[in-house]
Amino acid sequence: VRANFSVIQKEDGPVNGLIAVLHDVTEQEQIENERREFVFNVSHELRTPLTTMRSYLEALAEGAWQDENIAPRFLEVTQNETERMIRLVTDLLQLSKMDSKDFRFTFREIDLPSFLHDIIDRHEMLEKENIELKRQLPETKILVQLDTDKMTQVLDNIISNAMKYSPEGGTITLSAGKVGRKVKVSISDQGVGIPKNNVSKIFDRFFRVDKARSRDIGGTGLGLAIAKEIILAHGGEIWAESEWGQGTTIHFTLPLRKAKEASA
Ligand code: ADP
Repeated sequence: VRANFSVIQKEDGPVNGLIAVLHDVTEQEQIENERREFVFNVSHELRTPLTTMRSYLEALAEGAWQDENIAPRFLEVTQNETERMIRLVTDLLQLSKMDSKDFRFTFREIDLPSFLHDIIDRHEMLEKENIELKRQLPETKILVQLDTDKMTQVLDNIISNAMKYSPEGGTITLSAGKVGRKVKVSISDQGVGIPKNNVSKIFDRFFRVDKARSRDIGGTGLGLAIAKEIILAHGGEIWAESEWGQGTTIHFTLPLRKAKEASA
């Protein structure tokens, strides 16, 4: 809250009173601050790969291109940095699409356990890592209204995070079950975990516990922010539980009754 004071006084006469005007600027200012921070983050995130590429390209131009040992490695770095920028811009575009009012989701009624089985099957086929995916899924049908493409994206992101931050030979457990009028899905890993004061921040745009580390493993810091937007658009909630050094669980809920056609 911002306060403006005016003195009520006739010419040089005595002060008759004070008028205090209180402005609730918090929300407006917060939006403005978030916007500024967002632009700062985007610029910074794009600048980092660009400056890296510039120095590698400079070295190549100055003669490294002739060195058969060095040139392929330098080219690989610039390729990786380009890929990272493409991922970043793709994520940004998606967030900006979801921010616009007329963005629509396409909901279909599906059985959640079989949907989750399909996703896990695909990850088991894909992932080369020595990590076990355990299922704790109900045998009965649970019907929910989903945008299956968007929900696939949410689960892919959570599962790939769990894989990225898991130790060799770790287990990732995916469970689901009804809780009241909702269904709750939980994905647990035995990985590095998240420090307590950061747990709620991981859904913020660009937040990363360890920028250097997650950059190395290809993160943009936008995956969970996108996941949150998608879950909210389904009428659900998403949160994390974690113990530093002992693993992380991401939970989300979805309403059992028909979700309204929602715009993000
Ligand atoms: P990123 O692209 O960096 O993975 P996300 O939005 O998906 O971005 O995640 C944000 C941050 O949250 C990550 O950088 C990481 O620090 C933390 N995080 C997410 N999932 C996990 C997990 N399963 N274990 C530990 N840390 C995690």
